[in-house]
Amino acid sequence: MDTQMLIGSKFEAGTEAEEAVLNPKTGEAILDLPEASPAQIDAAVAAAEKAFATWSRTTPAERSGYLLKIADRIEAEAQGFAALEALNCGKPINAVLNDEIPAIVDCWRFFAGAVRTLPGQVAGEYLPGHTSMIRRDPIGIVASIAPWNYPLMMMAWKLAPAIAGGNTVVFKPSEQTPLTALKLAKIFGEVLPEGVVNVVLGRGESVGSPLINHPRVNMISITGDVATGKKVLQAAAKSVKRTHLELGGKAPVIVFDDADMEAVVNGLRAFGYYNAGQDCTAACRIYAGKKVYDRLVADLTSAVSTIRYNLPDDTENEIGPLISRRQRDRVASFVERASELKHIEITTGGKPGEGSGFFYQPTVVAGALQEDEIVRREVFGPVVSVTRFSDADEAVNWANDSDYGLASSVWTKDISRAMATAARLQYGCTWINTHFMLTNEMPHGGLKQSGYGKDMSLYALEDYTAVRHVMIAHG
Ligand code: NAD
Repeated sequence: MDTQMLIGSKFEAGTEAEEAVLNPKTGEAILDLPEASPAQIDAAVAAAEKAFATWSRTTPAERSGYLLKIADRIEAEAQGFAALEALNCGKPINAVLNDEIPAIVDCWRFFAGAVRTLPGQVAGEYLPGHTSMIRRDPIGIVASIAPWNYPLMMMAWKLAPAIAGGNTVVFKPSEQTPLTALKLAKIFGEVLPEGVVNVVLGRGESVGSPLINHPRVNMISITGDVATGKKVLQAAAKSVKRTHLELGGKAPVIVFDDADMEAVVNGLRAFGYYNAGQDCTAACRIYAGKKVYDRLVADLTSAVSTIRYNLPDDTENEIGPLISRRQRDRVASFVERASELKHIEITTGGKPGEGSGFFYQPTVVAGALQEDEIVRREVFGPVVSVTRFSDADEAVNWANDSDYGLASSVWTKDISRAMATAARLQYGCTWINTHFMLTNEMPHGGLKQSGYGKDMSLYALEDYTAVRHVMIAHG
C-alpha cells in the first residue's frame, strides 16, 4: 500500500501527528498516517510554483498526452484502485469497479480532449485600428481539497481540469479517505513532470487551513461542507484568491400524480440510497402529489426494505456503511428527532445496522412537513423523507424553499408540465423522469449555499482558467 505524500519529485511521510484511517465496515484501523508539517506544506506550494513556470507554457496537446497517460494507468490498475476505495470507504466493490472507475477514467480522457478545443469569441477590430483577441490562461497554484464520499472521483473532477488548464496543484484528500489519493500520487510521480501535482495529508484545521491561507496559492478549490466553504471564502478574502466551491445539497424530487410509479420507486430506491446516501445529489426530499402519496409511501417502503447491505459476500451488497461512527450517529440523531414528531412515521429502517461497522438501515420517513428538520437539513445518509403536496405551485415553492441549490428532479408523463416545472426550479441540475445521472460533457454544480463551482464539462475548464484580453494597435 502506498503511504507517502508527494512533494515535488519526492515521496515522503508527514512528520506530524498520526491520524487513524478506518475501515468503516468493521470500525477497525487500516493504518495510521502522519500529517504534513507546515514546512512540508510550504515545500509542496514551492514545488507547485516552480513547476508552474514550465507547465503553464506547455501546449494543450502536451498536457492532453499526460492526462491520457493518467487515464490509462488508472484503467490498467482498476482492480487495485477499486479494492482500496472499497476498503477505505466501505463501498461495495462492484459499485466502485463498475460505476466509479469508468467514470473517473472518462473524466481524465474528457479533459484531455476538451483542453484542445476551448471555444471563445473571435478576434477582430472592435475599435477601429485595433485588433482584440481573447486568451484563456492558467490561474496559477491551486489548493485543492476533497471530501470522503467519492475520493478518487473528486480527485479526478478537481485535478483533471486544473492541470489541463495549465495550473499546478497541491491536493489534500480527506483525512478519512487518503488511500486512493496516495496510490494515484505514485502514478503522478512516474508520469507527470516534477511538482505539477503535489499531495499532502492531514486534517482540515491543521493542514487544509494553512494550505488555503498560503500567500503563494492563487486559487482554492473545495468540495465539502457549507461551513468549510465559508472558511474558504474567509481565507480567500485575505488575498483575493479565486474560489471554486462545491458544497452540500438537499435534492428535492417532485412526483406528480401522473408519474410512472414503477419508475419513480425504482429510481428512488437507487438514487436515494446509492453510496448509503452520502451524496450531495441524493434523491432525499420527496414531494408527492396527493393522489399518489399513499401508494408511493407503501411501494417505496417495501422496495427500500429489500436493499442489500452488510452481507458477508460483498458482491451482493448494494450499499455500504457510513464513513465514520460520527457520521452514523449524526444520521441516527436526525431520524430520532424526526420520529419524535407525531405526524411522522418511520415506515422502514430507522436504526443503526448490526455489528461494529458504521451501518445504518435504509430508512423512509413518511408524513414529513416542509418545516421539519429532516426536510430542511442535509442528512447525508440512507434516509429519504416523503411530503405530500396539493398543487404544482406548492411543490415548486417548497422545493425552492431551501438553502441548497445543487440538484432536483421532476417526475411526470406530461412533458409540458415537466419543462414548466424545471424552468422554475432554482437548482444547478434538474433531471426529468430520472435523477443522479452524470456525464463528463455536462456541468455539475450548484446555486445558493451549494456553491458555484462547476465540475466536469467545458465550464470546469472555464473555472480553472482566466479570460484575458490582448489588444494590438495597428501601426
Ligand atoms: P468537510 O467540509 O468536513 O471536509 C471536506 C474537506 O475539507 C476535507 O478534506 C477536510 O479535511 C477539509 N477541511 C475541513 N475543514 C477545513 C478548513 N478549515 N480548511 C481547509 N480544509 C478543511 O466535508 P466532508 O464531511 O468531507 O464531506 C461531506 C460534505 O461534502 C457534504 O456536505 C456534501 O454535501 C459535500 N459534498 C458536495 C459535493 C458537491 O459536488 N457539491 C460533492 C461531494 C460532497
